[in-house]
Amino acid sequence: MTNQLTTVYINGEHVPVESASISVFDSGFNFGDGVFEGMRVYNGRVLMLDEHIERLYNSAAAAFIEPPMTQDELKRDILTWLRANDIDHDFHFRPIITRGIRTPPRVDPRFASGPATVVVLGQAISGTPTTGINLVVSRYRRHGPDSVDSKIKSLSYLHAVLAKLDAVRRGADDAIVLDNRGCLAECSASNIFLVKNGQLTTPFAISTLDGITRNLLLELAAELGIPAREKDLTTYDVHAADEVFLCGSGAELMPVITFETQTVGDGSMGPITERLRDAYLNSLDAHGTPIAIAAGV
Ligand code: PMP
Repeated sequence: MTNQLTTVYINGEHVPVESASISVFDSGFNFGDGVFEGMRVYNGRVLMLDEHIERLYNSAAAAFIEPPMTQDELKRDILTWLRANDIDHDFHFRPIITRGIRTPPRVDPRFASGPATVVVLGQAISGTPTTGINLVVSRYRRHGPDSVDSKIKSLSYLHAVLAKLDAVRRGADDAIVLDNRGCLAECSASNIFLVKNGQLTTPFAISTLDGITRNLLLELAAELGIPAREKDLTTYDVHAADEVFLCGSGAELMPVITFETQTVGDGSMGPITERLRDAYLNSLDAHGTPIAIAAGV
C-alpha cells in the first residue's frame, strides 16, 4: 500500500501520470470555468466522501455545469481509482469538473462542444505541523452572495492564491480574508475559529466556503460540551482572542500563534484547540469511507 499516484482519472480512464493531459480548449483552463473538491485519505478511508461529493455537485448545479455521471457513480469511480493506485494513507486528492471543451474558447457557454470534463488527481500529504502559523489580514476581499457565491468551490481561485502570496510576501504564513462588510470571512484555503473565555466562534458561512471540517468541528464541540456559535466577527475579535486556529481538509486543524505580529495566547497551541484537534483526529475513522469497498465493483 502506498500514497504515491501512478494514474490520473480523466473522463473514466486511468491515464499514467506522465502522459495525463486535457485539451487546451477546456473551459476550466480558459476561464476557470469549473468546480472542484479537495479531500483526504487517512488510514484506508476517504474522509467525508459523501459530504465532499454532495458539495461538488451543489457547486456544479450553482454554476449550471452538468456532471456526466451521478454522485454515486463518481464516488464508485473515485474509490476504484484509489484502489487501482494502491492508495491507502496520507493522500490529498482533487476531483475537478469543468464545463468541458469549448471551441472557439469564448465566454459564451453555448460554445461548449462536449460533455463536462472530469479529472481526479492528487498527491501524498503529511500531517499538519502543530507549531502554529503567523497570520495577517489580506487586502483581498471574499465575494458576498451579491456576487459569485463564495459557497461555490469554483476553479476561479485567484483570490486565494493572491491572499496567500500577499501573506507570504509579507513574511506571514496565511491571511484572513474579509467579506465585503469588513467582517472575517475565512483564510486563503481554510475556515477560521476563535476561542475567547472558553467559547468558540466562527464566521457565518455566507461569504465563505461552507467548510466540511468547520461543520464537523462544530459537531465535535457540541459533543465535547464546548460552547460554539457562528457570529459576525471583526479583526478586533482576533486581537482579543485567547486562541485562534484554521481548519480545512488540507489544513486539518492549525493553530495560529501570531496575528499581525502580535502573539496569540501564549504563542503555542491553546488547550481548546488541542482538545478539538484530538477529537477531530480520533473521529477520522468514523467519518471515513473504506477504499476497499470498491474491491468487487
Ligand atoms: N475555505 C476555502 C477557501 C478553502 O479552499 C477550504 C478548503 N477546501 C476551506 C475553506 C475549508 O473547507 P473544507 O473543510 O471543506 O476543506
